[in-house]
Amino acid sequence: MKFGGASLGTPMALEQVLSIVVAESTNWDNLVLVVSALDGVTDALLDAAQLARIANRRGYRRIAANLRTRHLALIEELAVGRSERKTLQADVDQLLSEMLDHCLLISNNLDAEILPSHSDAVVAIGERLSVRIIATLLRQKDVRGAPVDGTEIIITDDVHGNAHPDLDQTARRVNDVILPILEREIIPVVTGFIGATAQGITTTLGRGGTDYTASIVSALLGADELWIWSDVDGMMSTDPREASSARTIPHLDYDEAADLAYFGARILHARMVAPLAEMQLPLRIKNIYRPDKTGTLVAGMRRKAKPGLKAVTSIHGLALRRRASGSLAGVTRLVGNTLFKTLGMRSEVMIASQSSNSSFLCLVIPTSIGIDGVDRLQNALQAKMAEYPEKMPWEIETVALATAIGSNLAGAPALLAEVLQGLGDVEVQAVALGASNCSVTIAIPLADSRKAVARIHDVIVKSGSDNA
Ligand code: ASP
Ligand code: MG
Repeated sequence: MKFGGASLGTPMALEQVLSIVVAESTNWDNLVLVVSALDGVTDALLDAAQLARIANRRGYRRIAANLRTRHLALIEELAVGRSERKTLQADVDQLLSEMLDHCLLISNNLDAEILPSHSDAVVAIGERLSVRIIATLLRQKDVRGAPVDGTEIIITDDVHGNAHPDLDQTARRVNDVILPILEREIIPVVTGFIGATAQGITTTLGRGGTDYTASIVSALLGADELWIWSDVDGMMSTDPREASSARTIPHLDYDEAADLAYFGARILHARMVAPLAEMQLPLRIKNIYRPDKTGTLVAGMRRKAKPGLKAVTSIHGLALRRRASGSLAGVTRLVGNTLFKTLGMRSEVMIASQSSNSSFLCLVIPTSIGIDGVDRLQNALQAKMAEYPEKMPWEIETVALATAIGSNLAGAPALLAEVLQGLGDVEVQAVALGASNCSVTIAIPLADSRKAVARIHDVIVKSGSDNA
């Protein structure tokens, strides 16, 4: 079972989590918990690492002090015995002093090469704090729990900030570390989101990475099921903060869930679905405040599903357009290089389309680059293209990608037509059908993003085919 930051933010939410774990611990032979940092803590730690980069020592120290106050207040508020409390307080101080050491190394800035690894070590503190608190709280409820650091089990490459696990090495570690704990009938409480290179240097798996940890650990342990607990009733047909008509999707297959995550539904980490799909391991998404509700089940479909629409999401991106056709290789390379130089990341081209007289290319930039990232990239691209005005007559603009997810869409041209028609006066810049046949993505002007999503959602509600 995975518990995300939103279910760990307040004493009330934590009580809820504990009562769920106490109840479920009797329902299963073995239970493993994978948990995130408390709500908002990862953001604060990222800010601290950023402040360290500009040598703002006062700034990152203030963040450490705030984190200390927050975690200690939580421990105070929850019924923890005196000696347990002392131990926890010492753990908090120890971890935050490690954080300050790494911040200091960053701000001394002696070797730019090693900055990302210290930054990951700073960010990892959030999860390392939360597992200790949760394991202690479980013991207070007479459930035996032991904290486990992801650095001991998730072995990754050295792409800091977005590391990829090596499944063979990780499988060995999971067997060596987790199985003995389970054999002693103790619940391992594993940090999500963090891992380490084979040399033991801390890495992180990308924002929202606790899902990914949970998915890898459950696949490698051959779990019966993975449950993701959050504070909504499962995966929703659209962002519930945007539309009151949003409703829970009862059933998704793996491809649909993967496309939903990939195209912007923030409830799941985009890479977490693949390990589950490979093992045909069912995933449930449930609400800690309404544990009796079934939530969403992601599993293999027994029969080929009827065509139907289930959900709509949106993400923001940059689009390049030109009034001519021709090879896209040159421009993709230019975009890739500029992106890498400006932001240190590889580009992900989401849509490329071409007709006899125009070309269109759309890429999506993760929000983790920060708010000014898109501007910086847009400026860098414009400058680069201006160097080759003849070869690169591209216009650059911001766009949104609205994605409708559903079953067997290629077999349902009428549904696709309804989606396009539903858009009304919203300009359609490009359309792409997903390879797995369960999504259609439409590039539209950024300013029309909300309107387009709301209109597509109306079509979904009207078509009423949620494949319940
Ligand atoms: N705490 C990490 C984050 O905020 C990982 C997670 O929440 O899944 O991105
Ligand atoms: Mg998440």
